[in-house]
Amino acid sequence: MTFSSLGLSNNIDSAVSELGFSKPTHIQQQAIPIILAGHNLIAAAQTGTGKTAAFALPILEQLSGSQTLRKKRARALILVPTRELANQVNSDLQAFAKHSELRSAAIYGGVEYGPQKQALIDGLDVLVATPGRLIDLFDQKAIRFDELQTLVLDEADRMLDMGFIDDINKVFDRIEQSVQCLLFSATLSNPVRALARNAIESPKEISI
Ligand code: AMP
Repeated sequence: MTFSSLGLSNNIDSAVSELGFSKPTHIQQQAIPIILAGHNLIAAAQTGTGKTAAFALPILEQLSGSQTLRKKRARALILVPTRELANQVNSDLQAFAKHSELRSAAIYGGVEYGPQKQALIDGLDVLVATPGRLIDLFDQKAIRFDELQTLVLDEADRMLDMGFIDDINKVFDRIEQSVQCLLFSATLSNPVRALARNAIESPKEISI
């Protein structure tokens, strides 16, 4: 099993080889073809299984295949529970996108608005965000979701434990029905399943 046999093209394949990934992990083997086929997905996967690349690689593949707009607005949004995870996911995305023109940025609370607003003005393809700051910037009209194609909830169980349910529901209320939704969680607990049932239409389900 190789990354290219899962449907990923050369620039992503070379970036992952340079990172020393010789073959896709289980979650990557299962999730990547489902995401590339355009399905919604809910996946039970712990940290350490390679879950970040499982959603990041097919998202970058989808975005590099479609036309890049001159004034770039986020076409993929990845919601994460903490600032640390936002920075980690953003740095993984930048490593995977090394041989492409795609750009990403991370936004989170507890720091000043200026640099994050500037990153949004400069334009990007993938936005990684914690829910509170995202809604805050949305309400300030610094972010729009009208180009959004893909939404990821990463570590959904932790986001619910941290009390982000209202912010997550606000995001779902503000996006088009056609946006592809991908939910990753260490466990598919009852609250996570309830969220998925309300917000994600006919998802495929995988469990590692
Ligand atoms: P994650 O579960 O996304 O936190 O990833 C755990 C670690 O596994 C990270 O350090 C990744 O860089 C690494 N990793 C992800 N996919 C692979 C792969 N296919 N081969 C080797 N390492 C990987």
